Amino acid sequence: MNALNLNKIPIDLHCHSINSDGTHSVIELLDMAKQNFGKHLALTDHDTVEGIKEAKLYADKIGLNFIAGVEVSVTWDNNVLVHILGYGIDENNDELTYNLNLLRAERFKRGEKIANKLAEAGIHGALEGALKYCKNKNSLSRTHFAKFLVDNGYAKNSKVFDKYLANGKLAYVMQTWATLKDAISWINNSGGVAVIAHPCRYNLTKVELQRLITEFKMYGGIGIEVISSSHSKEESIEIASLANKNELYGSVGTDFHSISWYPNGGLVGTNYPLPNICKPIYPLLGINLI
Ligand code: AMP
Ligand code: MN
Ligand code: MN
Ligand code: MN
Repeated sequence: MNALNLNKIPIDLHCHSINSDGTHSVIELLDMAKQNFGKHLALTDHDTVEGIKEAKLYADKIGLNFIAGVEVSVTWDNNVLVHILGYGIDENNDELTYNLNLLRAERFKRGEKIANKLAEAGIHGALEGALKYCKNKNSLSRTHFAKFLVDNGYAKNSKVFDKYLANGKLAYVMQTWATLKDAISWINNSGGVAVIAHPCRYNLTKVELQRLITEFKMYGGIGIEVISSSHSKEESIEIASLANKNELYGSVGTDFHSISWYPNGGLVGTNYPLPNICKPIYPLLGINLI
């Protein structure tokens, strides 16, 4: 069992289960969050709300405050993959589930193309191999291909995206996901609020990131992830001041997928506190941290 880090706060608004590209079931994930002394948890699987109902029931049982979430894949500015988190969504909302299912239907087709590219490079059996890690073929993700490649000795964990799967690399397949405008409106129309996930992961210049934020706000987005396992401390401080400047609420998330996937990956259920200059999103989600 992990010991409580007294510098941390008991909240995590970003994590993945086996319903997308995480390795743990919803129940295992919630149990882990609780063991790590987490109190407030949002499940944010990629393009799916499949685990939400089970998570709500189990969270009630073990005394965890659960926030229904989702992480929507967006293609912004022609070819930039941006992730938009939705919190407090209604997982039964027809518009949301219909559109997420459309997005998910493309995942298997893209997976076939990724496997074809790998086969051209002499790596065979990637589709079947990746599917072994995946609960539902409509959730097939680059993460599952990464696992196949690592487990079969084609790359190290730390290099597999750079070598094969990142934008422009050998097995990268261009995919058009939701528009920024649509993703925000599905989230808002289902009673949720929209937050930009891990803003430092997109390799945007300062000017581009500001343009993303301006468009995001224009379409009704209200928050930005300040604390993330993808961010250095310096980056978190930079995003906190951007949040302040743009009047966006700050959010925190480990983006937990599996134990030790990120070199500095956080313990699911806990995060470093938000810098004082930014307003937490917590009250909007009915969360009282005190
Ligand atoms: P997909 O939605 O199938 O395109 O896969 C995107 C997922 O791949 C992200 O949610 C991350 O979990 C993972 N991912 C993307 N880039 C990297 C990277 N450089 N290192 C590790 N994981 C990554
Ligand atoms: Mn992921
Ligand atoms: Mn993401
Ligand atoms: Mn994520």
